[in-house]
Amino acid sequence: MRGQRIVEVPEIEGSLPCQYFGKNLCAGCYSEDVYRIRRVKVTGRARTPRKGLLRAGVWREWTYEDWKRLKQLFPERRYFLVSRGLWKPEHYEEVLRDPSCVNLQVSTWHVGDGFSPDRQTLQWLLSTSPKTIIRLLTTQENAPSFAGLVKETGMWWRFMETPLRKHGGMKTYGTETPLQALGVRVGIRCNTPCEDCTRENGILGCAATARMLERIPSLPEFRPERHEPTPKVRYAWSEITVKALRSLGGKASLRELYERVKEQNPGIEKNAMWQIRVRSRVQEVGTNVGRGRWALKEPQLVMVKARTTGFPHRESS
Ligand code: SF4
Repeated sequence: MRGQRIVEVPEIEGSLPCQYFGKNLCAGCYSEDVYRIRRVKVTGRARTPRKGLLRAGVWREWTYEDWKRLKQLFPERRYFLVSRGLWKPEHYEEVLRDPSCVNLQVSTWHVGDGFSPDRQTLQWLLSTSPKTIIRLLTTQENAPSFAGLVKETGMWWRFMETPLRKHGGMKTYGTETPLQALGVRVGIRCNTPCEDCTRENGILGCAATARMLERIPSLPEFRPERHEPTPKVRYAWSEITVKALRSLGGKASLRELYERVKEQNPGIEKNAMWQIRVRSRVQEVGTNVGRGRWALKEPQLVMVKARTTGFPHRESS
């Protein structure tokens, strides 16, 4: 992204499942669903880029021990931590005292009649440090409850709204958010891809320091462009991957595969996940035959001609 980059820490997120999977602790967990993709993304020797703001907590909830490891690996690097408020208070205090911690974002879900974490924990997290940001996962249905919470605290600029997007639903980035529709102002909206965050908020939301947050109420209200939600283009990722690999003679490097997929599917780059999807599918339909090189598995080489001839036909070698 332009300006400051936000980067993950694969040495810690690794390819391990979240320790909370299956424990029903986290409302609305989507990490389990994307676990397969994450495994692909961080498999192997993925390393934290040398530059950029570290995002601690992308695909799973970090533990205090994970954070200690981060400090061992990158004692001076600037980072922000996304957490669900499940840690002991003294552990959050330690993070918030750390000068390299830019902010702590507390993912907050609407559960039943209340919130997770509960009101008391949220109030404490807000009052214990000016670095805390409460990240609200909003939908049209829960927006009135969150609106009440924002008003109750009297600190709207310390909230970030993340509208939840329905799986396979319309593309809603850059559209009016549920809290906005209710006329409720928050300090930051996570409502675009990161590269457009400044256009949405006037600042890069995740890089907001306590000082920046404090200034928000004195600045003129930032009014980003809005557009209507658009239908999502759905891709048949396995077919796309097989077709591209087959057209490359059944064997290719990842780079060649990406190029061919782009040629065969104009506009596919608009899908921010396209390379991850292709990489994930090639591991299913192909076999690794060298560093970054993939070959179609035998069943994929069998042509549909079998339907007419009754015999499988090998399309390429
Ligand atoms: S869009 Fe902005 S607020 Fe959302 S994750 Fe990216 S930088 Fe953070």
